[in-house]
Amino acid sequence: MNTTAAVEQLNTSAVDYTYRMPVELFGTFNKGTGKRTAHKIAAYGQIKVISDIYTFSVRRGGMRSFCTRTLELFKRDLNVSESTVRRALKIGAADGYITCEEGRKDAYQFDTENNYTSGGHYKLEAWMTRPIIIEDNILTLTNAEQSVAAFFNSECNRAPQEYSANDIAETLDMSVPTVQKAIDKLTDEKFRLVYRLSVGKNQYRKSKYIINRTLFRALNREEAKKQKAIEKALAKKNVGGKQSEGQTQPQTSLDFEEAVQTEYRERVNRRAEALKKTLARALTDMEFRTSEEALKQLLPRLEFARLRKMPNLSKLQQEMDDYTKRRKAALKRLKIDEAELSESFYVLCPKCRDTLIFPNGAVCNCFARGAPPPDGEL
Ligand SMILES: [Zn+2]
Repeated sequence: MNTTAAVEQLNTSAVDYTYRMPVELFGTFNKGTGKRTAHKIAAYGQIKVISDIYTFSVRRGGMRSFCTRTLELFKRDLNVSESTVRRALKIGAADGYITCEEGRKDAYQFDTENNYTSGGHYKLEAWMTRPIIIEDNILTLTNAEQSVAAFFNSECNRAPQEYSANDIAETLDMSVPTVQKAIDKLTDEKFRLVYRLSVGKNQYRKSKYIINRTLFRALNREEAKKQKAIEKALAKKNVGGKQSEGQTQPQTSLDFEEAVQTEYRERVNRRAEALKKTLARALTDMEFRTSEEALKQLLPRLEFARLRKMPNLSKLQQEMDDYTKRRKAALKRLKIDEAELSESFYVLCPKCRDTLIFPNGAVCNCFARGAPPPDGEL
């Protein structure tokens, strides 16, 4: 598209986007022994920010460019918190991964001269960073889980590949239970982002995985469509409105996008608050609290026992079942439905699932309603 040597990143919502996460950011290994020689350079959310800068710095054909995302755009497009962005930029600069263009503080570049990268990378699709809506189900991946999704996207995208949770945990410098949880989410029947073709039975517990290519293509297409719709809308407004010099977007569109973002964030917060209230109410019940806490502790132990085929597996499973029953009974007594303990229960608009904008770029009419109703009016 652009052939100049240094292309500035457009400050638009670049949703049609694949972030390349260099494998070296997750740590390095001794080539001979295969042993880890360095840990991941930062937390997973921070790796996303640094990867975004890398993606923009190192373009195909050796073209170098600057990443000029603002704090707000980093937050919005990568779906990370402000402190994550700030810390990533700080760590990135302090450790020599990120440099700035001379005389500028907002044009970042990944320093490839002083940081070895093999070119190997995990492909993090933009849609992986946001809640993924498939039919009526919402899948939200944590930053760590997004890295696992990116791993599958790159390693198991053409032919099925065998991995154990331990393999992936080692490669991504992650805990095994976190990897296990990510795999469970990605292979969940409601979403089927990744197929598990065989469950590991050999001594290494390796399973065969391949991504759901049809679904990945569809999600990528939706992103492209959304991006096109946004670009079109921007172009239209650019023609209509007078634009002052140096302004990359008409003010109206910025205002609009900001309003959408604000309402979106409000709804996310509102759901979190509503969930917190319900949970707090449930936790006042001794029986619920006891079983909830026991289950939380049991889950990772059970995963571990399952992975290692430990002899106490059936005992743990029994305990798990007992506490699950007790928790269920307590909830029934409290007249709280299990669904109420999930954020999705508090979604206001079933049409857009509170995302406000449809994949084709159209705005949901629930947005016109403005601010969500005050608490208690569910
Ligand atoms: Zn809606």
